[in-house]
Amino acid sequence: MIDSSELIVIGGGLAGSEAAWQAAERGVRVRLYEMRPHTSTGAHTGPHLAELVCSNSLGSLQSDRAPGVLKTELERLGSLLLRVANETAVPAGGALAVDREAFAARVTQAIESHPRITLLRQEVDAIPTAPVVIASGPLTSPALSRAIAGFAGQEHLYFFDAIAPIIAIDSVDFSAAFRASRYGRNSAQAEDEAGDYVNCPMTKEEYEAFVEALIAAERIALKDFELELEGGVRAGANHFFEGCLPVEIMARRGKEALAFGPMRPVGLRDPRTGHRPHAVVQLRQDNLAGTLYNLVGFQTNLTFPEQRRVFRLIPGLQNAEFVRYGQMHRNTFIFSPVLLRPTLQARSREDLFFAGQIIGVEGYMGNVATGLLAGWNAARFVQGQPPLELPPTTMLGALCHYITHASPGDFQPMKANFGILPTLEESGEPPVRQKRQRYQAYAARSARDLEAFLSRLGAG
Ligand SMILES: Cc1cc2nc3c(=O)[nH]c(=O)nc-3n(C[C@H](O)[C@H](O)[C@H](O)COP(=O)(O)OP(=O)(O)OC[C@H]3O[C@@H](n4cnc5c(N)ncnc54)[C@H](O)[C@@H]3O)c2cc1C
Repeated sequence: MIDSSELIVIGGGLAGSEAAWQAAERGVRVRLYEMRPHTSTGAHTGPHLAELVCSNSLGSLQSDRAPGVLKTELERLGSLLLRVANETAVPAGGALAVDREAFAARVTQAIESHPRITLLRQEVDAIPTAPVVIASGPLTSPALSRAIAGFAGQEHLYFFDAIAPIIAIDSVDFSAAFRASRYGRNSAQAEDEAGDYVNCPMTKEEYEAFVEALIAAERIALKDFELELEGGVRAGANHFFEGCLPVEIMARRGKEALAFGPMRPVGLRDPRTGHRPHAVVQLRQDNLAGTLYNLVGFQTNLTFPEQRRVFRLIPGLQNAEFVRYGQMHRNTFIFSPVLLRPTLQARSREDLFFAGQIIGVEGYMGNVATGLLAGWNAARFVQGQPPLELPPTTMLGALCHYITHASPGDFQPMKANFGILPTLEESGEPPVRQKRQRYQAYAARSARDLEAFLSRLGAG
């Protein structure tokens, strides 16, 4: 039975869990629908809410980096998922990385025990006619995808991403690999001075042989992958989000592309030679126990046997045990510039909100953040209050502004970055030439404007 004083949230991922929590905390009864574990997305592996499907890193913590600014805003706005991430953090230099199991289990427990949230493990196959937040993610079920395509009046875009492999750390050969963080920037949790990351160094010759093997390796044919897609949607967009390019695709862009990309050696010295290696493969801790590590930036669509063969050419990984292989996946998102307002409401239906990856936001924390705003605004809608538009000088406000104002012709998913903020001049401040200081000024402006916004609301 649909009740207009309650809110429906579809999808218990990063955005949906945060949205449900925010609405419930504001006094609204929430029915949260999550189709797992009965129906799988093909990428999630467990039953928990807020499962991180690939990297366990939630991005930089540094206050003069865009993801750091976003986290400061989320902290101020009372994000559940950020709080849980801080509680389940693992060492990752200047970044916030979590034990994915502990993170998802704690979010699930918080949602399940909230007195105003009812969690229903069911797939939703139509858009409800009651107030609703759709946060069904990049792997929205086919039936709901069709319903959204019907509502939107235009086709979806399928877009491809890829995930990186995870290996067991006790299979790494430390006579070749060494521990260090770039520029010695270790997290507070680093047990010793050695560093948070495991680094596999390569000489120029080793690097060139590796790149050659990578380029020649067998990939899972895109055609097979496309054939798995549902009918009624645009399946021809066989291109990748630049921030998540498969390593073998990047390697094809030029001999040194990887050495300037995920394998860049800057800030690292091999303790055995005292020199900077020609290239480095970095491994980042993936679970609290510190037994699993992922290959940073090594999203891939190679066949599994080829991943074993080629990635074992990396010095230190000759006996690597792969606990998860890299894979490709689809990424479904709507044309937000046409369909959404910066409040994350549908332009044509004010009780319908969207949040998360499905609106064309990239990055775990960006998805949490849009879930926060959608849940907050949906609660306000249910309670008869006008929805909120955050200042465009905040990172979250800028993200929502960007995706709802981008040119529809070349709309691409966007993650938190300083390029989407108004310049300092645009907000009446003197320009700052030096990049680092300019970013610090952006961070200060975001904090100041968010505070002013909250105090105008009476929530400060
Ligand atoms: C394989 C893969 C790898 C990725 N790697 C990264 C990465 O390394 N870093 C990064 O920042 N981002 C990555 N992403 C993007 C990542 O998905 C998002 O950052 C984040 O998970 C999106 O949050 P979300 O809440 O929008 O979607 P999700 O977290 O996917 O949550 C959506 C939820 O909705 C549920 N659902 C779907 N359809 C229905 C339905 N009809 N009824 C009920 N429930 C439904 C799903 O089961 C899922 O739990 C990756 C995505 C995929 C698929």
